Amino acid sequence: MDTAAPADTPHTARTEEVLEVTERFVAHNYHPLEVVVTKAQGATVTDADGKQYLDFLAGYSALNFGHGHPAILEAAHKQLDRVTLTSRAFHNDQLGPFARELCGLIGKDMMLPMNTGAEAVEAGIKVARKWGYERKGVQPDQANIIVAAGNFHGRTTTVISFSDDDDARRNYGPYTPGFITVPFGDIAALEDAIDQNTVAVLLEPIQGEAGVVVPPAGYLPAVRTLTETNNVLFIADEIQSGLGRTGSTLACEHEGVVPDVYLLGKALGGGVVPVSAVVADTDVLGVLQPGQHGSTFGGNPLACAVGRVVVSLLSDGQFQERARTLGGILHTGLEQLRAKGVTAVRGRGLWAGIDIDPALGSGREVCRRLADYGVLAKDTHGPTIRFAPPLVATEAEILRGIDYLAKVLEDLA
Ligand SMILES: *Cc1c(COP(=O)(O)O)cnc(C)c1O
Repeated sequence: MDTAAPADTPHTARTEEVLEVTERFVAHNYHPLEVVVTKAQGATVTDADGKQYLDFLAGYSALNFGHGHPAILEAAHKQLDRVTLTSRAFHNDQLGPFARELCGLIGKDMMLPMNTGAEAVEAGIKVARKWGYERKGVQPDQANIIVAAGNFHGRTTTVISFSDDDDARRNYGPYTPGFITVPFGDIAALEDAIDQNTVAVLLEPIQGEAGVVVPPAGYLPAVRTLTETNNVLFIADEIQSGLGRTGSTLACEHEGVVPDVYLLGKALGGGVVPVSAVVADTDVLGVLQPGQHGSTFGGNPLACAVGRVVVSLLSDGQFQERARTLGGILHTGLEQLRAKGVTAVRGRGLWAGIDIDPALGSGREVCRRLADYGVLAKDTHGPTIRFAPPLVATEAEILRGIDYLAKVLEDLA
């Protein structure tokens, strides 16, 4: 692959045109790298000029099984030709089986199908509040939910109400009340915050957007004990950490923890359609009765047909095993860059948050240079970049990504 100073490579006319039209007609709520993806397969994407890149972001883990996984595409194609949408006004023949298979994989009684991750979080919050009033006996409108500092749970009005990211939150008030923030990983603070009106603790078992932050060992089991003792639901947002990424089906498994409610999304849609779910036992999800929650697209047969393949891909543990093995290689390689401009490496499985010495350049600058070399990654919060290649990546591809990061750091030194 080309290793010359590629930052100077001019864009072709076609790429310039795409960038221009996007800039002009699309709201500026993102700041994408100047790469125009036109096709992709497995862990490789191709831009408008025919240049190939390793995809080390994988759609923020929505593409755990890579681009164009044949089994996912085959199921999607078949279902496209059969029926794509019924609405929940009628039954379809994919939802029930998808729910049964997903519940079998996750180990819970029932699931509530939604579309995006933020919708699953919203649904989880609604269910927890309803459970609090109807099962726990909390007085009307008094319920509180405890969340962690540095959280990312999506972009809806309620969800950003308990974000501490100023960009995510500023000027979107008035905010939804009923949330208490405690430091992530601090069990004493959580214990202090729980009161008789607490209905749930909502956490990412590993905080993705915060920079792949793994809590101290023993934290999640302590949260489990504390919530159990106080009759509080433990809701794990596994939208980014779940479905194979960390080397197990769910990140909570690493700590032997079984929360009351799982929120799933991203990879559940196989990189094809948005599919999310709230997965819990009947004593929790059973609070929902007809008319009390819904979604026009939630549980649609196309989404469910894709979701069924995702569940089946995860059912024999091969992808989880791959994430563990490749993750070991990734983390070993990244640790070796510590003396060379990397100041911290966090994560688990095929998922890493990498802090770059700010003296070398920002996370964005590192990602821009990585793209020049042919690796797509994303910065989060200043000096941090994130690596989350698809689980179908090869060992050689993982090593190549690390080599290019090493080159970028050398170039910047
Ligand atoms: C991405 C993400 C969400 C939101 O998912 P969307 O599909 O973007 O709405 C929620 N929680 C976590 C942990 C996420 O990573």
